[in-house]
Amino acid sequence: MLDNTFEFIWLIGFVTGSVIRVIHRRRIRPSKITANHETRSDVLLLVLAGIGMIVVPLFYLLTPWLEFANYQLPEWAGWVGTALFVIALWLLWIAHPNLGHNWSAKLEIKENHLLVTKGIYRYIRHPMYAAHWLWGIAQALLLTNWIAGLAFLGFFIPLYFLRVPREEQMMLEHFGEDYHLYMNRTGRIIPHFLFHKQR
Ligand code: SAH
Repeated sequence: MLDNTFEFIWLIGFVTGSVIRVIHRRRIRPSKITANHETRSDVLLLVLAGIGMIVVPLFYLLTPWLEFANYQLPEWAGWVGTALFVIALWLLWIAHPNLGHNWSAKLEIKENHLLVTKGIYRYIRHPMYAAHWLWGIAQALLLTNWIAGLAFLGFFIPLYFLRVPREEQMMLEHFGEDYHLYMNRTGRIIPHFLFHKQR
């Protein structure tokens, strides 16, 4: 178990990310839900992504069973993975308080739901999903195993592409023109200013 530095770094990142989630989520007060758009396939993919993020990597680190699927990467790839993991944790750390009580693990609108367009949400509409992209890529660079390294990304990618258009549709139905204008000036996970000339 924990044969190298990068496995240890993954473990530290994983624990830090879990602590960030727990700290912020405990601050959310329960609210009445006014619209729920969550489907069974959303729940299934969330559970599978959770298994890919937590159960499979720990199984890899704690048992020799997945060793047959190991791959090799140059050392710099591990440091790139470390940097991406740090950015992912930073995004999670700032996006949670930005979203505040409007956060939800499900696709739903709460009573008194406010549209957040400040903080990191000023630049991208989905900083938490951006964090999970980076987390998934970091996992593949830090845990050099076809199964454990790719377990999260493999479920997160379909989850992302199925969920984001429906989340945005839900926000459009609820916030109408405000969300439409917000979409025009922000990127999903990459800020517009990186590609569009500022006027
Ligand atoms: N997609 C966002 C939020 C993830 S949490 C991100 O990646 O950071 C998912 C819930 O957040 C959704 O169900 C929706 O109710 C809420 N939400 C998403 N964007 C929001 C915004 N800009 N303002 C307020 N609530 C938002």
